[in-house]
Amino acid sequence: MDNYISDDNSDVSTLHSEADLIRSNEADSINDAYAEKIAVEEALAAEDSKELEETEDGAEDVYPDCVSVINYHNITHDDMLNGDGLRVVLWVAGCDHHCKGCQNPCTWDPNGGIPLSEKDESEFWEWLGKSWTQGATFSGGDPLHPANRGYIGYMIEKIKKEFPGKDIWLYTGYTLKKTEDGFVFADANGKTFSYPYLKDIDVLVDGMFEEETRKADIAAQKTVHWRGSSNQNLIDVKKTLLRGEIVTKKCDEDTAYCCGRQGGGCGA
Ligand code: SF4
Repeated sequence: MDNYISDDNSDVSTLHSEADLIRSNEADSINDAYAEKIAVEEALAAEDSKELEETEDGAEDVYPDCVSVINYHNITHDDMLNGDGLRVVLWVAGCDHHCKGCQNPCTWDPNGGIPLSEKDESEFWEWLGKSWTQGATFSGGDPLHPANRGYIGYMIEKIKKEFPGKDIWLYTGYTLKKTEDGFVFADANGKTFSYPYLKDIDVLVDGMFEEETRKADIAAQKTVHWRGSSNQNLIDVKKTLLRGEIVTKKCDEDTAYCCGRQGGGCGA
């Protein structure tokens, strides 16, 4: 019997040791996850204050307090062609890039289309609120045309506050660049501006449409997901801000996003 009790105590002791080990491992992994979360929050906060400093230093003010209503051409819903999942898409008026081969030159005039009325905008919010709508996409035209930046910023901010589960994609002809002072958008002439709402965008499709690149893509039978020509980038904005370098969606994360420019190897 003593032997039996002694053996039993030994088993119990082993079990306690194993339980301690598991608890210790769990604590380590919780600490790791917490540390990672803090790192993300600190990086985003640093980006915030950098952008604020830029504005205070006299960088172009892209989000005036008083934003005027924009013109737009269309609102599409259950859209599967302009981002992941089913989306509601706002097609704004105004684009200064004038890319050769643009399929929508009628969207270049910022005064074209029709003013976005309160009723029209409420239609956008109504569709975004549908349970099956994954997120919002801003396209055009160019949502970052000077006439649109402020109002699109207001809409981005509203999505983050009132639709926190929805993601945001934005298409622009400007190119995202990293500078010593942070990330800025650049036009073809190298003129740049900062955009405080960048941090709230999930996926940015940047760069001008290139007709010749498009032809080459077709000749090479490249599948170019979500973009008109393969020179445009599909940027993971959150990772870009976190790492401090442009991070594009890669094949190893999801073939649907493959940019084919970072060793993805899927042929896109
Ligand atoms: S950025 Fe888009 S809308 Fe503007 S000219 Fe180029 S292709 Fe057309």
